Amino acid sequence: MIHFGPAGNSASFYAQGHKHTVEAFAWISDMGLDAYEYSFGRGVRITKATAELIGLAAEANGVSLSVHAPYYINLATHEPEKAAGNLRYLAQSAEAARWMGAKRVVFHPGAQGGMPRSEALARVKASLMLVIEHLENEGLFDIEICPETMGKIKQIGDLDEVIQLCKMDGRIVPAIDFGHLHARGRGAIQSLDDYAAILDRLEEKLGGYRAKRFHVHFSRIAYTDAGERMHKTFADEGFGPDFAPLARLLAKRGLEPVMICESKGTMAEDAAEMKRMYLEELEKQ
Ligand SMILES: [Zn+2]
Repeated sequence: MIHFGPAGNSASFYAQGHKHTVEAFAWISDMGLDAYEYSFGRGVRITKATAELIGLAAEANGVSLSVHAPYYINLATHEPEKAAGNLRYLAQSAEAARWMGAKRVVFHPGAQGGMPRSEALARVKASLMLVIEHLENEGLFDIEICPETMGKIKQIGDLDEVIQLCKMDGRIVPAIDFGHLHARGRGAIQSLDDYAAILDRLEEKLGGYRAKRFHVHFSRIAYTDAGERMHKTFADEGFGPDFAPLARLLAKRGLEPVMICESKGTMAEDAAEMKRMYLEELEKQ
């Protein structure tokens, strides 16, 4: 089944007097949503008790959970202390995900830095192999880990790099951030064919479950020559990519990804709009 939901809490959630994420699941469920991504972007700081409360509330409202690992993870790093940190942060994210009953951990692969692209990617792959071993040793690899397509050109994570990382192990599922692909391609997604090319590539290179039930981040986005500048909302005119062609393709091809909306401040509202557009397309099939 396809799922739709926000990354984190909308501004309106707090404006209505809500204080804690435990309350978010009934709130988004009322909007017809059934997915939620919890961010550990600034660090995995959650107690087991709180994580379990969040998990129970999500389950009670039929919401499927994913988590986002810390943003400072950089699997291309040369520095031994930072490499050790990467393992720790991903293991902490996986453990907290388990406490919550979350099924996926999304992470940013790393930065190219001063290295040639091929060397940075080779380093990310070697580190990811260590991460896989570490999670296995800790008994934490019962969840899916999802490398994300990244919005800045100097970040590792174009579509083919993410596919290459996924090829390392069947439990690695692509997190396709369409806004990021649009930004790093400086406006690359303009048409239904542009979306279709991305989906075709997943089918051709990964196929099966990972080409059908992959992870998605979606938002409109502003970019410069270096790629991503900032996430926008559906109310911000003049920014792509447009969701309508993707809604059509998801319905037409019977795809069932987890659709996480990352609009700035209106992520739940825009996720609900995405779901509405998708259901409209499904009606037409
Ligand atoms: Zn991300």
